[in-house]
Amino acid sequence: MAKKKGIALIAHDNLKPLLVEWARDNMKYLSQHTLCATGTTGALLQKETGLKVKKFKSGPLGGDQQIGAKIATGGVDAVIFFWDPLSPHSHDVDVKALLRIAVVYNVPMACNRATADAIMACWMGSAKN
Ligand code: PGA
Repeated sequence: MAKKKGIALIAHDNLKPLLVEWARDNMKYLSQHTLCATGTTGALLQKETGLKVKKFKSGPLGGDQQIGAKIATGGVDAVIFFWDPLSPHSHDVDVKALLRIAVVYNVPMACNRATADAIMACWMGSAKN
């Protein structure tokens, strides 16, 4: 098997059902890697899919920043972050900081299902080679 990857998962409230659906569709792959998530997202993913997920604090309480720190210190190979483009959030600055730090460290970040699917397809393809 290819090297285990670290995958961070986050979804704003309106997008949590979409992330759960995506995780279910990618269960077989995700279950072979190391997952972490912001608090509420991680708890929901665990409950709905049974995947093992390391949970940080809830996003508005610093979870996005904790994932940003993990990107900076190593251990995150991709971020799947379904942020909500249609609602305001108290922690918008933390979200922006997370986007920024992912760019700084050249970590792929999917902000919608199409991009998340593209990352999975790319990784699964290279695992076969
Ligand atoms: P949550 O945080 O998973 O704790 O809801 C997500 C976010 O709002 O960044």
